[in-house]
Amino acid sequence: MNRLKYLLMLVIMVFVFGACDDDDPNTDISVISLEKGEKNDFDKYLENILTEPYNIQFLYKWEDVESDMNYQLVPATYENSIKMANLVKYLCLDSYEEVAPSDFLKKYFPKMFMMVGSAAYRNNGTMVLGTAEGGLKITLYNINNLDVTNVEMLYEMYFRTIFHEFSHILHQTKDYTTDFDKISSTDYVGGSWNDAWDGKSSLDAGFISDYSSKEPNEDFVELIAHYITNTEASWAAKLEPASDSGKAKLTQKMTIVKSYMKEVWNIDMDELRTAIATRAEKLDEQDLDNITIE
Ligand SMILES: [Zn+2]
Repeated sequence: MNRLKYLLMLVIMVFVFGACDDDDPNTDISVISLEKGEKNDFDKYLENILTEPYNIQFLYKWEDVESDMNYQLVPATYENSIKMANLVKYLCLDSYEEVAPSDFLKKYFPKMFMMVGSAAYRNNGTMVLGTAEGGLKITLYNINNLDVTNVEMLYEMYFRTIFHEFSHILHQTKDYTTDFDKISSTDYVGGSWNDAWDGKSSLDAGFISDYSSKEPNEDFVELIAHYITNTEASWAAKLEPASDSGKAKLTQKMTIVKSYMKEVWNIDMDELRTAIATRAEKLDEQDLDNITIE
């Protein structure tokens, strides 16, 4: 986007959001800042928990938003951006830290997160949960509707996207066996994944989600993202309605996924799943508004 358009956009934004001042108790902290380089307490906290240890940039200010302007977007609130930063650390990074080799996250975890307040929708009406550019920059939408009391929604709206994109980086770094591609080789539907399963279940064809049926790489990372965000019981319940052949394919694929993660990355998928579930259970004890540097 050229500079003039960008400035115009900011002016419109300031006008639109400025107009709501009277109804909004939190306007003393503006997420629309034209002054670069001024660090607030949250910026310092982010540096401490994400940038220094993991080289992760966490972009939440509108000036940082260089996102796809085909969608109409609003900035994330300061308060919810804090909650999300703490959630990424607590549910995701710290879970991997429990089971992964040291330096694993610093080397491979996505390096940039961008918060967007509103949801984004595609032309066909489906909601965009998150987008990633080459796995390096992950954009999370709908931050202003964050509900930290609903773990299932947190997984659905944000964390499966993060685990999904992170897993792309892993297989792009070191590929998995082509045996995986053979299991569903004739069933991938490419770009029509979104309407290929109307009235049919993608589970019956051996896919953990409709999106899995796009192509093997998506299938592979969807399995990881769903597996580690389910408990043993909820995973079994998820597979329960699948046909016998669907179940068999899912089991075969999971065997390959698990041995790949173990052999290549020295990560036990069951330990990782337990680490995440244990943390999720204690989520209500966490102070997600904290920005105090210890
Ligand atoms: Zn993907």
